[in-house]
Amino acid sequence: MTSQTLIPDASPADLNAPANDASAAFEPAQFDQHVMATYGRFPIALERGEGCRLWDSEGREYLDFVAGIATCTLGHAHPKMIAAAGEQMKKLHHVSNLYYIPEQGALAQWLTKHSCADRVFFCNSGAEANEGAIKLARKYGHTELGIEAPIVITAKASFHGRTLATVTATGQPKYQKNFNPLVPGFHYVPYNDIEALKATIAELDAEQRQVAAILLEPMQGEGGVCPGNPIYFKQIRQLCDETGILLMLDEVQVGMGRTGNLWGYETVGAEPDIFTSAKGLGGGVPIGAILTKAHCDVLRPGEHGSTFGGNPFVCGIALKVCETLEEMDLLANVRSRGKQLRKGLGAIAQKYPDLCTGVRGWGLINGLVLNPDSGTVALDIVKAALDEGLLVIPAGAQVVRMVPPLIVSEAEVDEALTLLDRTLNQLSKA
Ligand SMILES: *Cc1c(COP(=O)(O)O)cnc(C)c1O
Repeated sequence: MTSQTLIPDASPADLNAPANDASAAFEPAQFDQHVMATYGRFPIALERGEGCRLWDSEGREYLDFVAGIATCTLGHAHPKMIAAAGEQMKKLHHVSNLYYIPEQGALAQWLTKHSCADRVFFCNSGAEANEGAIKLARKYGHTELGIEAPIVITAKASFHGRTLATVTATGQPKYQKNFNPLVPGFHYVPYNDIEALKATIAELDAEQRQVAAILLEPMQGEGGVCPGNPIYFKQIRQLCDETGILLMLDEVQVGMGRTGNLWGYETVGAEPDIFTSAKGLGGGVPIGAILTKAHCDVLRPGEHGSTFGGNPFVCGIALKVCETLEEMDLLANVRSRGKQLRKGLGAIAQKYPDLCTGVRGWGLINGLVLNPDSGTVALDIVKAALDEGLLVIPAGAQVVRMVPPLIVSEAEVDEALTLLDRTLNQLSKA
C-alpha cells in the first residue's frame, strides 16, 4: 500500500513537502474546511511552548494564563513530563483494562493517599468522569436507597460537560438548546442557597424518596469564577449525613491544586462521598477520574468501562505530574502567586472602574469582574489582551478568567498584570 491511498487528497508533491511545514494546513480558511465548526477560534495557531510561554506559527510570543483551560499544571514542555512520556512510550503505552496496569494502580494509590477517596475509576475527560459519577449515583440510588427513578440535583450556572447526561446536569440553558430531549432525572437549584436546596428536596421527596445525589462544583468555573460558600457546603454535608443523599463534587476545574489546596472540597471544608477530576490531573494528557469512598463503590464488572481509560501512557505521565506537584511544593506557589495576582487585579479594577468592578477567586483561579454598564464584555478584553501577548479566557460574558500553569513565577504574574493594565488602558481610551 502506498501512502497515497492512506491520504487520498495528498498529491506526491504534498507528501514530499518538509515535514515541519505545517503552516499551510493551519490557514484558518483551510482548517475550517476540514474541522467541524464547534469552536469560536482566535486567529492564531500555537506551535510551541515552554513553561508559561507559547509561540504561534508567526513566531509571536504569548504569556499563557489559560493553560489549556486550567489543564497544563506544569506548563508546557516540562522536562519531567517529557521524560515520563518517553519512558512510558518505550516501555508500554496501551493495553486494556482486561489486565492489571501497574501505572494505573500507582496513580490510584497516590490519589487515595492524597484525598478522602478510597477507590478510583479512570476515564478520559471531565464529562466522562461526571457521566460515570452520575451512573454511580443512579446505581447507588437503586441498590442502596431503594429509589426507582433516582434524581440528581445540580446548580444553576453550573458546568459539568458536553455529553447528553452532563449537558443536562449543566444548569445553563444555552448549552442545552437544540439538544432535547434531555436526559431525565435532573433538578436545578440556585448555587450557595441552602434554603432553596432544602425546599427542593422536601418537594421532590414528599410522596416517595427520589433524590439520590447532589452534584456541585466547589467553585463555579465556567459559570463565572463563583466561589462556593463554606457555610453552604458544610450545611449540605450535614444534610447528606442526615438523609443518606450522596454529595458529589465536580473537581474537574478546581481540583489538583488550583485553589491552593489539592482539592476544592478542602477549600469549602466539606468532604464529598464521590468527586471527579480531569483537567489538571494529567497536566495536559487526556485523563479523567471518578474518586469514591468505599461505601459508594457499587459498580461491578460489566457495568462501566473505557477502552483508553487509565492506560499506561496517561497514568505514567499523570503520576509524574502528581509527584512533581508534591516535590516542587506547588500548593505553596499557588497560594502566594494567587495572592499576588488578586492584589494586582484589585489595583487594576480600582484604576479602571468604568471597565471593571473587582476580582474574585482562590489560588490560581481568578476572575476580573466587569462592570455591566461598561458596554465591554469579557471577550473584548480577551481579544485585546491577545494582541498584547497575554492569553486569558472569559468565564461567561462578564468575567475575565486567569488560570495560569501552577508553576507560574512571581515575575510572570507581574508581567501578566502589566500586560492586562496595558490592555485595559487601550480599551478605556477607545
Ligand atoms: C471542563 C469541565 C468539565 C468538562 O470536562 P471535559 O474534559 O471538557 O469533558 C466538567 N466540569 C467542570 C467543572 C469543568 O470545568
